[in-house]
Amino acid sequence: MARISMNDFRAEPEALLQAEVAACERVIRSGWWVLGPEVTAFEAEWAQRLAVPHVLGCGNGMDAIELGLRALGIDAGDEVITTPMTAFATVLAVLRAGAVPVLADIDPDTAMLDPASVQRCIGPRTRAIVLVHLYGQLGPVAELQRVASTQGIHLVEDCAQAHGASVGGVAAGSFGAFGAWSFYPTKNLGAVGDAGAFSTGSAELADKVRALRNYGQTVRYHHPHLGMNSRLDEIQAAILRVRLPYLDGWTARRRAIATAYGRGIDHAAVRVLPLPAEPERHVHHLFVVVCAQRERLQQHLNQLGIDALIHYPVPIHHQEPCQAIQRDPLGLLVAESHAANCLSLPCHPAMTDGQVDQVITAVNAFPA
Ligand SMILES: *Cc1c(COP(=O)(O)O)cnc(C)c1O
Repeated sequence: MARISMNDFRAEPEALLQAEVAACERVIRSGWWVLGPEVTAFEAEWAQRLAVPHVLGCGNGMDAIELGLRALGIDAGDEVITTPMTAFATVLAVLRAGAVPVLADIDPDTAMLDPASVQRCIGPRTRAIVLVHLYGQLGPVAELQRVASTQGIHLVEDCAQAHGASVGGVAAGSFGAFGAWSFYPTKNLGAVGDAGAFSTGSAELADKVRALRNYGQTVRYHHPHLGMNSRLDEIQAAILRVRLPYLDGWTARRRAIATAYGRGIDHAAVRVLPLPAEPERHVHHLFVVVCAQRERLQQHLNQLGIDALIHYPVPIHHQEPCQAIQRDPLGLLVAESHAANCLSLPCHPAMTDGQVDQVITAVNAFPA
């Protein structure tokens, strides 16, 4: 039997593949390969999808965070509160912007920032909170908007895992000062290489990022800012335009799989992270369970032909360059425990019902 993997791009529809090949040919023949009409069109389509006025393509998700923080004027010595349970890129972007990351603890049910811990991390130098919508679930935006506005600091959204998540019809990426998007191939909306985007309601921030992504240039050969090279290329934008109409169908499939797991997984030693009351909040980038014997569960699944990965085994404060990182004075105990016990099960749109059942049966048969 074929292995059940975390992603299976080769199982995508032939019609999609054909359209992607045609899009690449169109771009190559056009002779315009970086920041051209495909990028502009994709920016408009993604902006419309999010219902935000401004989207700017950039090189990747990490750059989108750095560009946005720099556009906000955050720099040396400014503190930015974020989570230890995220891709390293989130914190690396804060560091690259010149700011000082401060880690708050997480909520055990969502593995996302705990607003009470965020509150404890706030000091006189705090300028922003980077909320990561982890595993595809929209985080505690209302609570953190309240904290941010009371303190006069910015809320920022790392949306790299949350394409299409929303609450009350309002999309992830439109709650904070800006949203940062990654279209790395494994994300819910992915390119065929690196790609990213920045979304915002502020024309001023958008203008700043437009310059910063292109060496800080405003008018050709004029550089009022020290920017970076983080441009989106035409082939990736064209691919994203072909893939975007599939996103809702893929999200629906991910939700159906997550619902089946939630109903079907029944094991005293395996806790499924609770699904939100409003299904539209979660786009199930990853389906995560918590198990005190996580390594053994992973091996058990592997032996039955099922891949399972850990997101994330090493929290940020245990990464070598981050051991002295500032943090909640009460510690990061929930993040420690989550990192030690979490396991992500396969949850991708090309999975068949049979494969979903196979995963459920395998988890339930775990000899704990
Ligand atoms: C993938 C990811 C990033 C980084 O995106 P890249 O495009 O790989 O730079 C940032 N934050 C989170 C939460 C991610 O999952």
